[in-house]
Amino acid sequence: MSTSIWRQCKSKKRYRNIGEMYRSKKTCERNRGKKLDYYWCEICGGYHLTSVIATEENGYVLKSV
Ligand SMILES: [Zn+2]
Repeated sequence: MSTSIWRQCKSKKRYRNIGEMYRSKKTCERNRGKKLDYYWCEICGGYHLTSVIATEENGYVLKSV
């Protein structure tokens, strides 16, 4: 587990489930005008949005919907 993921967990909004995350993702994408990715967080067991592409290579845990 990398430190950056831990720091992101504490500073990011946590979504309890996919549906909640997805609604917020759509709103954020519309507001910012760019695509967001999401990942499942092993620290809090929820979901977070991210502007970087979440891959297992850069330390994210991906869970299929
Ligand atoms: Zn988290």
